[in-house]
Amino acid sequence: MSGTGPRQTPWPQSASYPLVQPLQPSVVYVTETPDAMDAQYEGVTEGYAYAREGHPNADVVAQQIDRLEGAKGGIMTGSGMAAVGAVLMGLTKSGDHVIGGNQLYGRSLRMLRDDLPRMGVATDLFDPTDASTLEGVIRPETRIILVEVVSNPTLRISDMAAIAAIAKARGILLFVDNTFTTPLGCRAYDLGADIIMHSVTKLLAGHSDATLGYAVCKDPDLQDQMATFAMTMGLTASPFDCWLADRGLATFPLRYAQACRNAAKLADVLADSPAVECVLYPGRADHPDHNRASAVLSGQHGNMVTFDIKGGREKANALSQTQGIFPLAPTLGDVSTTLSHPASSSHRGLTDDQRHAIGITEGTFRMSVGVEETEGLVAQLANALANFT
Ligand SMILES: *Cc1c(COP(=O)(O)O)cnc(C)c1O
Repeated sequence: MSGTGPRQTPWPQSASYPLVQPLQPSVVYVTETPDAMDAQYEGVTEGYAYAREGHPNADVVAQQIDRLEGAKGGIMTGSGMAAVGAVLMGLTKSGDHVIGGNQLYGRSLRMLRDDLPRMGVATDLFDPTDASTLEGVIRPETRIILVEVVSNPTLRISDMAAIAAIAKARGILLFVDNTFTTPLGCRAYDLGADIIMHSVTKLLAGHSDATLGYAVCKDPDLQDQMATFAMTMGLTASPFDCWLADRGLATFPLRYAQACRNAAKLADVLADSPAVECVLYPGRADHPDHNRASAVLSGQHGNMVTFDIKGGREKANALSQTQGIFPLAPTLGDVSTTLSHPASSSHRGLTDDQRHAIGITEGTFRMSVGVEETEGLVAQLANALANFT
């Protein structure tokens, strides 16, 4: 088909093809005939029809994350929370019951507290570091257990073996939010997950410029049900964000290895500072779950370090303004090192008592360690702490 209309100038032909995956923002795809459209919708031929239902930029990214997780058929969503919603709302019905870890990502906790109950799905929380607290909240109608392997910001490690055993014995789906740990920290299927999600916004895309999620179910029927729900709700990922994530994923293993190396060093710098009350890093022998960390995390202990400074909010404000300290930016997984202060950001919705119960004080900072050159980064933090004290 050719003509003079705005859509009728043909794309130039090339005997060679681009090395870089193209960005394909087209919302709609042209088919030759109604028969061809039928063939496509019936699965006789393969092709795209309408971007909300799928597009090539989403598929190339999803397939890469599938490979990292050892999964098949995962989908991209417009954010990590869209992936959580696709699973929790796409796979439950009124009368079901969902259980979550008590230190889940704040918005996931909010979905369990406010949104699922409004739709007739009851919810309960348990302490995933102590699997004995799980049995007590399981009901006959429990459908899904949602856990994160490493908690934010206290970096406690869930007892994955015990939780997976209980879920399996009771026929409950184990849903793992693997954002913090990444598929290089642990492969969630190997830990017994039935469903995996990622906020691709974080380490996988890695540059704080794309908002995306990923979700996959081991069971193809559940995967179908979840993907159909995501299409119906329009939880679709933007092609441009997927294209950025594709570029980010190319360096993910390198970035992760460097960030883990840096994190281990920075944790030691913090531990040596008289201004610091305590440091939590799963790779350190003084971490409360250090033994479990060795079993669950595949040798790399992650890019997140949490520490408490002495002196409460006043000193927290002072540290944030200290020459050379990392920027206060409440996300994680960027190429540069950033800090977050949970009491004023991610955990501001909790009361002081609730925060203290999970180990967060006004002096708690969570550091997301980046890929900077190690020696310079160590010197930067050591100098900042020296200026601060
Ligand atoms: C950020 C995050 C989410 C939500 O992801 P968005 O892309 O921000 O919607 C979910 N779980 C964890 C552990 C996260 O860190």
